[in-house]
Amino acid sequence: MTAIVWLRRDLRLTDQPALAAALARHERVIPAYIHAPEEEAPWRPGAASRWWLHHSLAALAQDIGARGGRLLVRRGPSLATLRALARESGATAVFWNRLYEPALVTRDAAIKAALREDGLAAESHPASLLVEPWSVRTAAGDPYRVFTPFWRAAGRLLDALPRPLPAPPRLPAVAASLHGEPLDALELLPRIRWDAGLAAHWTPGEAGAFARLDDFVAAALARYRSDRDRPDLPGSSRLSPHLHFGEISPRQALAAVREAGGAEPGAAGGAEAFVRELGWREFAHHLLFHFPHTATEPLDARFAALPWQHDEAAIAAWRRGRTGYPIVDAGLRELWQTGFMHNRVRMIVASLLTKNLFVHWLEGARWFWDTLVDADLANNTLGWQWTAGCGADAAPYFRIFSPVLQAERFDPERAYLRRWCPELARLPDRWIHQPWAAPPAVLAAAGVVPGRDYPEPIVDPRGSRALALERFTGLKAADPAGTNRGPVDRRL
Ligand code: FAD
Repeated sequence: MTAIVWLRRDLRLTDQPALAAALARHERVIPAYIHAPEEEAPWRPGAASRWWLHHSLAALAQDIGARGGRLLVRRGPSLATLRALARESGATAVFWNRLYEPALVTRDAAIKAALREDGLAAESHPASLLVEPWSVRTAAGDPYRVFTPFWRAAGRLLDALPRPLPAPPRLPAVAASLHGEPLDALELLPRIRWDAGLAAHWTPGEAGAFARLDDFVAAALARYRSDRDRPDLPGSSRLSPHLHFGEISPRQALAAVREAGGAEPGAAGGAEAFVRELGWREFAHHLLFHFPHTATEPLDARFAALPWQHDEAAIAAWRRGRTGYPIVDAGLRELWQTGFMHNRVRMIVASLLTKNLFVHWLEGARWFWDTLVDADLANNTLGWQWTAGCGADAAPYFRIFSPVLQAERFDPERAYLRRWCPELARLPDRWIHQPWAAPPAVLAAAGVVPGRDYPEPIVDPRGSRALALERFTGLKAADPAGTNRGPVDRRL
């Protein structure tokens, strides 16, 4: 008996429920990756994600090969390719792990129905979340819109989670007659090689994910609670791209930090703080699953009436890290060069774009989508809507991050600024995060000519803040309660 394991964003061999289920019941198992980015429209993987995917698939192909199997890579459409593969191999079943983004929920439901109509078994498994989106509900039976009660309910389910599954020691051989495409044929890597910075910072693949987890647990977990907010320190796990591509499961990350927290009292607080961040990831997926329109529309419908401004020059300056606000520019340069930006800085750059420059949050979300190695539709949507003030449990509309105060508080030694804005590095701590305010003699001594070496601020923070407050207040006054779209009720 032969089965196909349809691999998607679960690019690992450990804690792999679909693979484990297929192996338990079938003699021959064909691991297949089908490339069909158009099926994810309008959120086809961006450039940084494609880079990651290429390397992650290469690592997985090697791991599968080392166990005696073969990863078959083919091009979509997914359904036609699965059908062809089943025909060619005589497979009677297709197994996969679930995804929860709107376009993929629709696609996968249609594929499951079509395969079953063909007489094949089609079976999906939970693997990328701790708690599936429909397994917690408010007392009224609705999905949650506020994090704390969501996490209280979801947290109760964590102790009952099964232990992560081990990797299969061997995989069955795949018949040579089944052809696969070479990975390069998918053309995932950029033609103009801008990706050196990504390669210097990341090791995609399951082994890279576990090396990252081990480093984090050994070096940063005990101080995570305080250091996670510091962009100048390696204080957080940087597991987000590995989690997004399923090179490690959240269950595995949870088990590792809880074990470390149990063994070493100093790490227990860090472990619980980290698990709470995994909770935000769960919450983001819960929201997007139940409110699928929020990938492009505000959860708080009143914000649809906001007069956003489309200022190409401002958007270009923001993208390139040339806004004149050092903490903002540092973050956007970090993103461009490494495919990552620290969480605290993501909030600061998003706040400047949406609340000082009045640019629509989707403009920022799309830039992140293309440039982040951890670009994730649920987390990105939550992060942007939260910062813009129009999402679930959002930062209140009147909370506008001050780039100056944020830099003072979270980059106390200005090491992050000096790293990413080297043209300002010689300015003293008092001025480097606000060079426009520095006395001329200080600027001259540091060799900084405003407007030549570093841009003047592109927006006046005080004026734009007042305008933002006025607009948001008007919005609330016009429709105090707001009329929002309700959730979609479904399960996979
Ligand atoms: P850690 O602090 O080590 O946290 C562990 C894990 O928890 C992360 O890997 C991540 O999976 C999850 N997590 C942590 N914080 C959040 C959060 N606020 N929301 C959801 N999950 C969280 N995260 C993405 O994975 N992809 C995105 O596209 C994304 N876009 C964002 C956009 C904006 C505007 C903002 C404000 C945040 C965004 N985030 C996104 C959330 C967060 O910034 C990253 O998950 C985090 O910086 C990843 O770093 P880490 O792995 O070191 O996190």
